[in-house]
Amino acid sequence: MEKDKSWTALSKGEQQPRVRRKEINRQQLLLRPVEVEKLVEQGHPVRAIWELVGGLNLQPFYADIESVEGVAGRPVWDPQLLISLWLYAYKEGGSSAREIARLCEYHPAYQWLTGLEVVNYHTLADFRIEHKEALDQLFIDVLGVLSHEGLITLQRVMHDGTKVKACASDKSFHRKTTLQDHLRLAREQVEQMGDPESEEVSKRVAKARQRGLREKQERLEEALKALEQIEASRSKEEKKRRASSTDPDARVMLQAKGAYGPSYNAQISTDAKAKVIVGVGVTQAPTDAAELEPAVERIEANLGKKPVQMVVDGGLTNQAAMEAMTEKQVDLIGALPERRGVAPDRLKQRGVSPDFYPQAFEYDEGADCYRCPAGKGLQYETEERQGASVRRRYRAKASDCRGCPFQAQCCPGTKRGRSVVRSEATPEMAAFQAKMETPEAQAIYKQRAGVAEFPNAWIKDKMGLRQFRLRGLVKVTLEAVWACLTYNICQWIRLCWKPQRLAQV
Ligand code: SF4
Repeated sequence: MEKDKSWTALSKGEQQPRVRRKEINRQQLLLRPVEVEKLVEQGHPVRAIWELVGGLNLQPFYADIESVEGVAGRPVWDPQLLISLWLYAYKEGGSSAREIARLCEYHPAYQWLTGLEVVNYHTLADFRIEHKEALDQLFIDVLGVLSHEGLITLQRVMHDGTKVKACASDKSFHRKTTLQDHLRLAREQVEQMGDPESEEVSKRVAKARQRGLREKQERLEEALKALEQIEASRSKEEKKRRASSTDPDARVMLQAKGAYGPSYNAQISTDAKAKVIVGVGVTQAPTDAAELEPAVERIEANLGKKPVQMVVDGGLTNQAAMEAMTEKQVDLIGALPERRGVAPDRLKQRGVSPDFYPQAFEYDEGADCYRCPAGKGLQYETEERQGASVRRRYRAKASDCRGCPFQAQCCPGTKRGRSVVRSEATPEMAAFQAKMETPEAQAIYKQRAGVAEFPNAWIKDKMGLRQFRLRGLVKVTLEAVWACLTYNICQWIRLCWKPQRLAQV
């Protein structure tokens, strides 16, 4: 006999009434009115983005549009809309054209922007990379707005580099012979390609296959060219003497966590007043050593004047940077670079006993010579400039060392007398060191991490840009500009737009 489902047995003989639930009907069809304007509230950031973009000069984005009134042709999407879609997507941590196209179908903020239309992902993807000059100008125009609001002073700018993963895997990096083999195969495949019209598969599939093969061949040719550049740079590390077959512009770099990986080096300059990014660039250089001067030039190009002071970490304080900043009359504040003497490991390899390491030699400043543990003099021999130091070499007479009972511990296997190197700071470095010992300079330097690393963390953590989606230095730089532009607009929303809106309520 079937059990009565409207009652649940509690215990033998007891029952309680069934819960009255709302039914879910997934078979119904509904027509609902949508008031587009009310899809997002008045203080929603998507309104701020639309408002700001609408107030900027977008003429460079309109310049190439051929669809005009009075002439046959389909209307195009307004650049104000495409820019706003990308900025809002980056703000929300998205960086995929397909994802934006999907979001246009149901997300209220995207629906408000598009007026319930769906923008094709091809249009979005092409727009992101097709307007380099216009995008650079847009970045500058937004800086103009921020400057007008008093958020940029250029009194103090913090500069830092951060590695961002390239869109390539470790396995895509190959040595020359492997790349040559792959290229030969790709060329053979391209030569064997038939006419797409006569293919058994559809014409569209055949054409896509041919395009894929040609692009593969081009990428391999670019990878071989990149490898020539890498070899010309005489990189000593074998793992760096390879090029990627998927992104030939990517370089193997040391990441923050100590691992090597395909990356680009993003250079970001941040004004200390309101943490606004005033300059962005992307390089293939594995270190930041040569990036300070280009950073100052970028800031000057963007804002029409040089920063008064640049604050950097020890990776950028070198002789060339100091000379460049002196020439540009920009005050440099930074960590002191590490001073390198002869590493104990190298002395150990030469068989020198720790009792005869350089600290056992006494320097006589008056006579400008060293005295060794056996009491013999080491006279000045030569000097060479290495970075921000001058290396002065002092050497004992060969005859003194030959007859010395300590020779086996002090300079084994050397026919010449023992030498000791004294490293002295260049005049520029000495002045820099003196400045950095003052409490004022140290107090300024302490602000560096909080300002310089803030946009890096925002872009990587909030926007999720830990890896570029695009490939190639030009496109990757465009992606970095989109991200930094979005970051600056977020600062404008937080510091200007929202307070003004609240004041109006
Ligand atoms: S080997 Fe030469 S430098 Fe070394 S302790 Fe003897 S005399 Fe001095």
